[in-house]
Amino acid sequence: MRSAVPVLMYHAVARTPMLATRDLSVSPDAFAAQMAVLAERGFTPLTTSALAAAWRGSGQLPPRPVLITFDDGYAGVHGHALPALAEHGFPATVFVSTGWLRGPYDTGGAPDTMLDWPQVRALAAAGVEIGGHSHTHPQLDQLDDDALWFELLRCREIIGDELGTRPESFAYPYGYSSRRVRRAVRDAGFRQALAVGNALGQRRQGPYAIRRLTVRRGTSTEAFTRIVEGQAIGRSFAAQHALTQGYAMVRRTRRAYGKAFPTRD
Ligand SMILES: [Zn+2]
Repeated sequence: MRSAVPVLMYHAVARTPMLATRDLSVSPDAFAAQMAVLAERGFTPLTTSALAAAWRGSGQLPPRPVLITFDDGYAGVHGHALPALAEHGFPATVFVSTGWLRGPYDTGGAPDTMLDWPQVRALAAAGVEIGGHSHTHPQLDQLDDDALWFELLRCREIIGDELGTRPESFAYPYGYSSRRVRRAVRDAGFRQALAVGNALGQRRQGPYAIRRLTVRRGTSTEAFTRIVEGQAIGRSFAAQHALTQGYAMVRRTRRAYGKAFPTRD
């Protein structure tokens, strides 16, 4: 497992998260404690682009590499996570749904308080990689080609306009992808993409299906330590599998009844 890299997936970092995002948000104190665990154990966080570059053969992996990633673009990533990251000099990656962020592109529908663009620029200036997470956070594998293409290109264009550089990395909303989605992400210009999957990231997964480990509000410091050390994978697989099956059931039910269920990831 020498080449396996823990890729941590966070969502909100908040004291009082909204109900819809509660399970997947972590408290500021827990996040700070988790960063201290990484520092004490000699982990070296790096950006998604740096990991992918090393796996392409154009860069060296540091000792004990780990990725710290945040999905959606919640305001607490700037307010709470950034100070803890800065304390250790840790880089990270934030995958933003551009139509959810506060500002001129806001399409509504964000489940909690989101970053605005000055905060995104402040994160980028502090060494946080800004990646894409679609425009309106749909299940990409459910879209037709035109809608899929719009979600990818609009997201990439807005980030490029706001930051001056096009994003290189992508994370699939809800972790859902398909062969068609992965090819579209590549063709849109993204060089690598992250899924979920409760497994350590490995080069053999390929640059468009790098797997991540979910950190939750209920993840204790001890459980976090087992996760980053690669010791909690097997045991929590059953729970993760049940979650995936739950999503599949929600999707079947949604198709059957044509109702919009508020699922978030
Ligand atoms: Zn998301």
